[in-house]
Amino acid sequence: EVRLRFAPSPTGYLHVGGARTALFNWLLARKQHGKFILRIEDTDVARSTQESVDAILQGMTWLGLDWDEGPFYQSDNFPLYKEYAQKLLDSGKAYKCYCTAEELEAKRESALKEGRKPKYDGTCRNAPDRPGQPFVIRFKAPEEGTTTWNDLIKGPISFENQELDDLIIQRTDGTPTYNFVVVIDDATMGITTVIRGDDHVNNTPRQILLYEALGFPVPVFAHVPMILGADKTRLSKRHGATSVMAYRDMGFLPEAMVNYLVRLGWSFGDEEIFSLEDLIQKFSVENVGRSAGVFNPDKLLWLNAHYIKTGDPVRLAELVTPFLKERGVDPSQGGPELVAVVKTLLERAKTMLELADGAVFYYKGDFEYDEKGAAKAFHAEAPALLRLVVEKLAGLSSWTMESIEAVFAEVMAEKGIKLGQLGPAVRLALSGTTASPGIYEMILVLGLEETRKRVERAIA
Ligand code: GLU
Repeated sequence: EVRLRFAPSPTGYLHVGGARTALFNWLLARKQHGKFILRIEDTDVARSTQESVDAILQGMTWLGLDWDEGPFYQSDNFPLYKEYAQKLLDSGKAYKCYCTAEELEAKRESALKEGRKPKYDGTCRNAPDRPGQPFVIRFKAPEEGTTTWNDLIKGPISFENQELDDLIIQRTDGTPTYNFVVVIDDATMGITTVIRGDDHVNNTPRQILLYEALGFPVPVFAHVPMILGADKTRLSKRHGATSVMAYRDMGFLPEAMVNYLVRLGWSFGDEEIFSLEDLIQKFSVENVGRSAGVFNPDKLLWLNAHYIKTGDPVRLAELVTPFLKERGVDPSQGGPELVAVVKTLLERAKTMLELADGAVFYYKGDFEYDEKGAAKAFHAEAPALLRLVVEKLAGLSSWTMESIEAVFAEVMAEKGIKLGQLGPAVRLALSGTTASPGIYEMILVLGLEETRKRVERAIA
């Protein structure tokens, strides 16, 4: 059974890069009928917050990335890490280091001055115990040989062991360090494949050496290239929102976000549209590219428009409700049925905010009229024509698009006019704007009484 994990550090919101990493892990777990585990890496107690944990869980839930085990918290595991540090000490694979911060800093500086790469010089490797004196525990890294792995994305990668430092695995205060806890957790949780950002490539050889020293099987690694902004620098706030939940607040659908994120690095021929179910079938780590993906807001917007256009109106109605409330509209308090309203808008709305903006006029009849549009549309004959339309609508025995359309055909024939002389006035009277859903659809959804009211208001 394959076991994958997402291991965020709870020091902020769920970033789009983190979400993509989570998605890749989730997809592989689902595809191979394995397990997806969520582990909160909160050993840095000072920087970790509960709000951040909540934000990460909320982001994953929003995207539909459910986990089979967890969330586990590293802060619950301190005794376990201590135990393993002691094991390494006992077997001579780690040692206590008594060098002071000042001593280390002096060594660092002289190395830099002499043009050497700073590296711990091993002073305490074979030093005797100094009871009562503060110490860190260092891992005794091999001094020769190479550490190699076959990265599922980047191919074979090797590091010379002599390049690697004697890593601190436990600090003076007894707390364990990042590279050490990751290995203990991944090993004891039985993780078989680690997919993570390629900012961790340099940690991987150190971690492999620790797996080997502890006698654990080494997992398979896949390092995902980072995400860049349009200017080819690492994606950051300068490029726009980087928090997944900010995209929800900007009116993006989770399926658009998932589809967008997966394509930032992964491809499947020239297909662009993928549902989560599709992706479970089609995803493979081997098809993740080696070069960095460039974040393209226009493409995300295009996908979002696609998912709104093809979305289930009942669900879209639910999702748009909070945005409508922000606009002072509560469809449960009267007005046309929201699902019917949504159906008239989903062709054109690129975001849920646009959908909400477009829906407001259905519920608030006290709008102003677009000035330019009104000057043209409300011409001298308009009031009479609008009245005639309402009169004929009132006479209808069935209320359908077809019957409403037939009323307009009749009025045009009777008066010898074209739709251009009538349509804009109706549109403006009903919505206040020159860009609205189709006039027949609007009348259908607003109903006779509301249509009448709005026409009267317009010609008053
Ligand atoms: N906690 C690490 C991070 O957020 C992830 C470590 C890993 O995936 O191995 O970057």
